Amino acid sequence: MNLEHVFLCGNPALDFAATLRARRSVRFEMFVSPDRLDAWYLESGIVDTVSAGQHADVERAVALREAIYELVTARVAGDPYHGEALAVVNDTARKPPAAPQLTASGRRTDATSEEALSTVARHAVELLSGPDVPLLKECGNPECTRVYIDRSRGGRRQWCGMEPCGNKLKAAAYRARKRQAQGPAAR
Ligand SMILES: [Zn+2]
Repeated sequence: MNLEHVFLCGNPALDFAATLRARRSVRFEMFVSPDRLDAWYLESGIVDTVSAGQHADVERAVALREAIYELVTARVAGDPYHGEALAVVNDTARKPPAAPQLTASGRRTDATSEEALSTVARHAVELLSGPDVPLLKECGNPECTRVYIDRSRGGRRQWCGMEPCGNKLKAAAYRARKRQAQGPAAR
């Protein structure tokens, strides 16, 4: 499977939660090393630089990620929050976040791994207490398990993205229709 980080969900906290992919089947881990976590912070755009993380940072990141995923799925299902997950997210959000600094040419955010993680937790707090909650949706590819914000008109977006999921499912649906049209003899 592809190890490139992708950002399809519409919010850094959701993209972060999706770094354990295919949660109900193969459970593919994206944060296999501290540098893959550092790469996520950079590629997500929440920091411009991040100090090199340690294995402990990956452990903290994974704990926050699982807590975020638990809270997001509870919110989508209309279930109460799990107290432990709530504590992990709130404890992380309480720590100093990555602080953007104004520069002559724009803005720059240099951070430690812990500060970047706090920023992710704060995104989760804002998302789950904000106006986008009714738009949260799980990808229509049952293997995918990404949760994204559906900002499409009429809420008609079915997949996290065409490349990872939409094309695959469309092709499968096409093959199924074709099989059906040909009848049982063709199988
Ligand atoms: Zn998907």
